Amino acid sequence: VTLSQQEQRVADEIARRGDALLDDLRRHVGIPTGKNHRPGLDETRQRLTERLERLGATTELVQGDEKPAWLGGPTGDEIPPTAVCRRSQGECPSSVLIAGHLDTVHEPESDFRELTIRDDGTATGPGCVDMKGGLVIAVAALEALEHVGVPASWTFTLNSDEETGTYHSERVLRSESASHDFGLALEPALADGSLAVERMGSGQFQLECFGRSAHVGRAFTDGVSAVTALAERLVAIGAMPDPARGKIINVGPVRGGAVTNAVPDYAAAWGNVRFPDQGVSDELAGELEALQTQGEALPRAVLHRSFNRPAKPLIPGTEALALRAREVAESLGQSLPFAKTGGVCDGNILQDAGLPTIDTLGVRGGGLHTPDEWIELHSLVERCQLLAILIARLSAGGSEA
Ligand SMILES: [Zn+2]
Repeated sequence: VTLSQQEQRVADEIARRGDALLDDLRRHVGIPTGKNHRPGLDETRQRLTERLERLGATTELVQGDEKPAWLGGPTGDEIPPTAVCRRSQGECPSSVLIAGHLDTVHEPESDFRELTIRDDGTATGPGCVDMKGGLVIAVAALEALEHVGVPASWTFTLNSDEETGTYHSERVLRSESASHDFGLALEPALADGSLAVERMGSGQFQLECFGRSAHVGRAFTDGVSAVTALAERLVAIGAMPDPARGKIINVGPVRGGAVTNAVPDYAAAWGNVRFPDQGVSDELAGELEALQTQGEALPRAVLHRSFNRPAKPLIPGTEALALRAREVAESLGQSLPFAKTGGVCDGNILQDAGLPTIDTLGVRGGGLHTPDEWIELHSLVERCQLLAILIARLSAGGSEA
């Protein structure tokens, strides 16, 4: 399959905008959006929604839900809203949901706060691949389609809590999924440029143990150690993983006791699980819940859990969508291998809500979530072209896959 003349004009237009893409990336990387930094999140959301509105989108700001209390996090007005920018064109038979997150994992006040270009065609900066590069190319792709006059129907969601579990924005992502035909998320490509077509699911838990405090010297036998109760359970958790089956469980941080000369009455551990399917998810849930005690006798153990990101197995609709993306890549002279990953993202939620979704359509790079996060600068233009033409073909309906 080769590019149509119109698609070639889109690709050329994007190639012409290479410098503007880099400038835009520099601007967005320089606005801190980690750790619920509201001024940066608000500014980034404002800049992007204004550009989408210039393309005819209408913006709805949707207030977020609270996280479970044991996970902490912002409440009430501190919860950032999700922007939902909708733009439909009557002649398009299909509509695309584009999911982007504004937040990064980086401290707003750290030294790592701007884009630094290196000699080897890469640059470093907070969020440069995860996912400011993806946001920048997606807005530019829609602008290039508009410039060339290619019709497209899309909704672009901009949430601010993907890195902390999408608790605030999950409801709106699910409801938007129901009214679209295809989901595209802007997470970075895997290290070799692969498209992730299969993802594990993930969940959080907290195990709390309660005992009775006592002075170690005067009344040791009156005490019931919460730390010992927790430690016994952590040993049991240590025996649970079966990585060959994709059953993964990790514990940390752990907290317990305040001073050495008192029997501790409270201890707690937090942890994360990964699973390839609902069966293993249920198995992990059952084994963790069995660590709880019944009744009020001490020591008492209580489990809280939130398995919030369902697994994203390869379903036929997603495979067909991935094959269409590969076809676009090949007509641009790019290759697009497929891969699996244990990482999770909002694509897990979109697909679980019934929407065929591919989610690594952002830029290429590496060092995600570290102070060495880097982007391959070539990929700005390449991946913008891929995204633009894929959106055009999906909006036009049909399936060549
Ligand atoms: Zn991300």
